[in-house]
Amino acid sequence: MGIEKLIRRDLLAFGGYSAAMSPETLDGKIEVATRDIIKLDANENPYGCSPRVQKALAKYAQYHIYPDDGQERLRKMLAGYAGVEAERIVAGNGSNQLIDLLLRLLISKGDKIINLTPTFGIYSFSARLCGGTLVEVPREADFSFDVRKVKAAVTSRTKIIFIANPNNPTANLAPRKDIEDLLDTGVPVVVDEAYYEFSRKTALRLVEKHDNLVILRTFSKWAGLAGLRIGYGIFPPEIAAFILRIKIPYNVNAAALVAVEESLKDTDYLMESVDKIIAERRRLFAELKNVTWLRPYPSKANFILCDVLEGDAKTLYQKLQAKGILVRYFDHPRIKDCIRVSIGKPEHTDALIKALREIGGR
Ligand code: PMP
Repeated sequence: MGIEKLIRRDLLAFGGYSAAMSPETLDGKIEVATRDIIKLDANENPYGCSPRVQKALAKYAQYHIYPDDGQERLRKMLAGYAGVEAERIVAGNGSNQLIDLLLRLLISKGDKIINLTPTFGIYSFSARLCGGTLVEVPREADFSFDVRKVKAAVTSRTKIIFIANPNNPTANLAPRKDIEDLLDTGVPVVVDEAYYEFSRKTALRLVEKHDNLVILRTFSKWAGLAGLRIGYGIFPPEIAAFILRIKIPYNVNAAALVAVEESLKDTDYLMESVDKIIAERRRLFAELKNVTWLRPYPSKANFILCDVLEGDAKTLYQKLQAKGILVRYFDHPRIKDCIRVSIGKPEHTDALIKALREIGGR
């Protein structure tokens, strides 16, 4: 026990975030070659980014110059896409970074964060890192949340309520009225719309009326840019100004900036991919329903959560992995008997269903 003595005591038992697996880490461990692995575990876009992005990045000649720290042009472009004023926008190294920055801005030790569980793991991860206290309000059997229970959990120390909408990993949407009711508490409400382009439902119209609403979006899913790390938030203008002040300099890299510009010039192409994913969502749902030992939940996102009715989810995850198909399973007690499958191309659905039939229940 030398240098470890210096580590913050509240972090000594911190487990970290279990991110999705990189296929190359399986190299030599399974019989399937890395390039043949079907990755349905991180809600990535199987169609990739716009070809315009690929071309522009190959031609870009300014990699040796720092990008604009104030994100002026980027914020204007994002404002144009989202349909809000640029002063409300801040971009981040993935929307994950904006979750972290907002918590750093609002949370002092012991302040409370309300989490509607099961939900996206980064909220609790970042909350713990900031020394915040998590208050969990469990979702109902259908994964909706009960507004009365959330309101009952609010105290004078509550600084943030997180609503992933659609929720990850359950893929369901909250009604607009429930979001408005929570906004009426006055507590800052983060509506995380990472999957907005797949659900086409947004709380954006509430932005003018509520100065406690934050909306988060990302280019990781619909625009196929998960690897480049670019997301944005729509904040009350005063909060946006503070986030810009506390972020590390140049948090959005030059390549991401180029990628946003080209993606926004190619939204027709990208929305075609989104449409294909939505069509495949319907087919995958029907196929999973036909597997007698699985029960899929309806989805408004680019993934489907599924109860594993026979055998256990972790074993199923391992058996699929051995066949080169990656899906997600969870430690959270409420969904430990579930797997989450990202929507792939039609051939990925075919391969998954074939593998499930081979594996069988139990
Ligand atoms: N919010 C939710 C609900 C997500 O599911 C994800 C990605 N898994 C993110 C945010 C993070 O996205 P990004 O890649 O922009 O950090």
